[in-house]
Amino acid sequence: MSKHQFQTEVNQLLNLIIHSLYSHKEIFLRELISNASDALDKLRYMTLTSEKMKKVKMDPRIDISFDDRNQTTLTISDTGIGMNDQDLVEHLGTIARSGTKNFLEKMTGDAKKDSNLIGKFGVGFYSIFMVSDKVEVISRKAGENKAYKWTSDGKSDYEIEDAEKEEHGTTVILYLKKDEKEFAGRFKIEEIVKKYSNHIPFPVTLHYTEVKSADEKGEKTEARSEQINSVTALWMRPKSELKEKDYNDFYRSITMDTEDPLMHIHTHAEGKLEYTTLLYIPKKAPYDLFFINYQPGVKLYIDRVFITDDEKELLPSYLRFIRGIIDSEDLPLNISRETLQQNRIMANIRSAATKKILSELQNLAKKKEKYTEFYDEFGKALKEGLYHDFPNRELLLDLVRFKSIQNKEYISLDEYKKKMKKGQKTVYYIAGDKEDNLRNSPLLEAYKKEDIDVLLMTDEIDQIVIPSIGTYKDIPIKSVNQSDAADDLKTEKDEKKEKAIDPLIKKIKEQLKDRVKDVKVSVRLNDSPSCVVADKNDPTIQMQQMMRAMGQKGMMDVKPILEINPDHSIIKKMKKITDDKLLSDISNLLFEQAIIAEGGEVKDRVLFAKRLNNVILKAIST
Ligand code: ADP
Repeated sequence: MSKHQFQTEVNQLLNLIIHSLYSHKEIFLRELISNASDALDKLRYMTLTSEKMKKVKMDPRIDISFDDRNQTTLTISDTGIGMNDQDLVEHLGTIARSGTKNFLEKMTGDAKKDSNLIGKFGVGFYSIFMVSDKVEVISRKAGENKAYKWTSDGKSDYEIEDAEKEEHGTTVILYLKKDEKEFAGRFKIEEIVKKYSNHIPFPVTLHYTEVKSADEKGEKTEARSEQINSVTALWMRPKSELKEKDYNDFYRSITMDTEDPLMHIHTHAEGKLEYTTLLYIPKKAPYDLFFINYQPGVKLYIDRVFITDDEKELLPSYLRFIRGIIDSEDLPLNISRETLQQNRIMANIRSAATKKILSELQNLAKKKEKYTEFYDEFGKALKEGLYHDFPNRELLLDLVRFKSIQNKEYISLDEYKKKMKKGQKTVYYIAGDKEDNLRNSPLLEAYKKEDIDVLLMTDEIDQIVIPSIGTYKDIPIKSVNQSDAADDLKTEKDEKKEKAIDPLIKKIKEQLKDRVKDVKVSVRLNDSPSCVVADKNDPTIQMQQMMRAMGQKGMMDVKPILEINPDHSIIKKMKKITDDKLLSDISNLLFEQAIIAEGGEVKDRVLFAKRLNNVILKAIST
């Protein structure tokens, strides 16, 4: 017998489960059945692909029994791949999955504990300690002779000793806590299995004793067995036979979600390429949607044999929120991860499935409310597709949504286009990090006055993705933070004004020559005296800030262009200033306030305050 300590992370996870999942205790059974099913999947795959394992008997079964009389134990047995002593230490004493570690960091760090979050996350084997004082796992690995017993009370350590077991596979015995006896009851078990594990593709059999008659001489009982799940691979059944409830039940059995999905997409493709996909869009984004080590949500089957649930390339990464299964007879069973990624059939299935998902999303988009629900959760991920999935860019452009200065709700590019003003030749947008700041930006003044709509882009990814698109249906898309976006607004009158103000511009330029690329007359301002924009092909202030935040420290300051409003009283009065010091202070302040309005930072704050005070003093002295 040997004693072992749990890895620290296991202890953390145990604590977390016990404190945040107590209202969903029953899921421990789902986790055990799902592990048993995985073990059977693995064995089936091995017997089909490995020479050594071909001789192993495959009799796939999951059996549940319990102690009827005292209700103290519950036993779940499978005839799957099994574990040897080393496996027991590795799988039931440590946490290997990087996703789990990430998750634990998030849950145990400063972040508030969120029980919703843990509900979405697969807590696995350790959930049994919510209902058990002690657990025994007796296991024998397929193809090996020795069996082992793992025992733990779920506190801080566990034991492993030699054991006897006739067949390969795993038996888990739960010694139930006093208050959890209900889980050793026939109807309770049936209810939970139907709810979470009905579509497990192996028979789940419940063993119980039925009391036939009872009198003073004693009870007459009979041992009974009953299969309690429906076994068929649901995705292979014709759509006409399946109800919404069947789809939803299956979704809950393959994900950790306790909610129904937003929608499902079920496709049987026949002809040149034969495959079946049953894909789901969840209602809520998975917790790891924006982690590098996200857990992919699509399982690959080949002719109903489970192959992998850990392959990120089954769908494009921007669709990583999709859950479900892909099954094809056309792929070779012994496919490896490397060959899978280069396999032409897989590539075709992937591209067809992607197109299907996008076209279903177009249908969903017709229902505004439902689509908004979807877009709030997954819009950001979808936008990544604009950058990465060139062949589907047109489809994706129809699917992205933005708010705008004229719309508090999302609008599509198509809606924007339809509402463009006569003579408007450009789709305008403004980018930055807060919707409220953007709505109040001085850069929008003229557009507001002219009743031209401007899209608000508040996601970081917008600033990378949108400039890469360039045009929508041949209409150029321009950022109003960029100098040339205002060219369309220019009239002859503006050109006259420009001439009149030329001498002042020269003076300001002289004052600011180290801080700006140019000084120009603005046609986009109304209430504000000045604004800053980026030159045509330069990064905007927001973009530069983002690059720096992402660690690109070496990035040089790209100087912006200062624009001034010739109709503003400050500018009009400036023409008459003869005091050089005052002219310099005001020029610098015009620049600095414009930077601040754009969400930028003024480098020398002390100098800024000094200038401001000088000007204030002048104002109150006269
Ligand atoms: P997960 O199933 O998400 O990987 P678990 O905590 O449920 O996490 O299980 C950890 C590991 O223990 C599994 O990945 C598997 O390797 C092993 N395991 C658990 N139950 C069984 C079983 N019934 N048969 C074989 N291996 C199992």
